[in-house]
Amino acid sequence: MIEVEHIEKRFGAFWAVRGATFRVDRGEAVGLLGPNGAGKTTTIRMITGFLPPDAGHVRIDGKDILNDSLAARACIGYLPESTPLYPEMTVQGLLQHRARLFRIPRRERRAAVDRAIEQCWLTEMRRRRVGHLSKGYRQRVGLAAAILHDPPALILDEPTNGLDPTQITEMRRLMRELAQDRAVIVSSHILSEVEKTCDRIIVIARGAIRANSTIETFGGGACPRCILEAKIDDQTAASAFGDALRALPGVSNVDLESLADWRRFVLTPDVDAPPIAERVGKVVLQHDVVVRELRQEAPSLESAFLELIARADIEDQA
Ligand code: ADP
Ligand code: MG
Repeated sequence: MIEVEHIEKRFGAFWAVRGATFRVDRGEAVGLLGPNGAGKTTTIRMITGFLPPDAGHVRIDGKDILNDSLAARACIGYLPESTPLYPEMTVQGLLQHRARLFRIPRRERRAAVDRAIEQCWLTEMRRRRVGHLSKGYRQRVGLAAAILHDPPALILDEPTNGLDPTQITEMRRLMRELAQDRAVIVSSHILSEVEKTCDRIIVIARGAIRANSTIETFGGGACPRCILEAKIDDQTAASAFGDALRALPGVSNVDLESLADWRRFVLTPDVDAPPIAERVGKVVLQHDVVVRELRQEAPSLESAFLELIARADIEDQA
């Protein structure tokens, strides 16, 4: 439904987006995730036709966003970063106005407005003035305006920014519902945000795409760490045990943390090393220590995300 092919954007000498390529199919919700200034909004503005790319192509349902602009944009519902809404209009007045702008035929307008109001849980607010609504409700009005023409592609730029926790939960539920039969892109700088609403994550940092994978496989390339908690009262014995772990093939680093009565050894494997837990077991036997826990721990989404961003910073400086 949404095809993005090597799009680039430069502002003067500054590359805001350099060669982004990805696609989003119907029924898929994709999180565009990156720190502030990563290029999310610039990417989204190019996809929605508000900003022409310096290079590359965008197609929505097969229609080119520049050469077949009206047809392509008719397929898109777009919620910009800050929603421009007329504060003096009522919710339904604003939606009717937008329905006219979208050229929804007069006979269908009323039904379209009613459907959007219902889908975005705005029924009780329909006669209120937009300027009198809380930020959470205003955001829902923006979303209702974006789906009025029932677009198959929905693009939301940081839709939960500035909402309180209850409003965020509601917004997420709404996004999930709307994503069912559409292609959805949601941008965010918060990982937990997209983790809960999206099937797939695209990480962007310093204008380039750094990862594109499902939530399940995201960060899966990294080797699991090995956590060992042992009882070793003697300090010398503890450091000898630590040294023996450090000497194991495939172990790149061992951190030692002291708990109340226990010591925790955190073993980080070399890149591409086979699982190290078995070899750790042998060292435990040799040193005859009491162990209460030995487990492997896959890196969290959070640490995988932070590592991608850190690597992007280093590459960019180099
Ligand atoms: P994000 O949405 O991920 O926070 P943006 O896409 O808004 O990031 O911005 C990416 C970078 O491009 C930022 O460094 C921003 O300052 C710069 N930028 C965005 N729009 C413009 C513009 N119109 N002129 C100059 N620089 C811009
Ligand atoms: Mg932005």
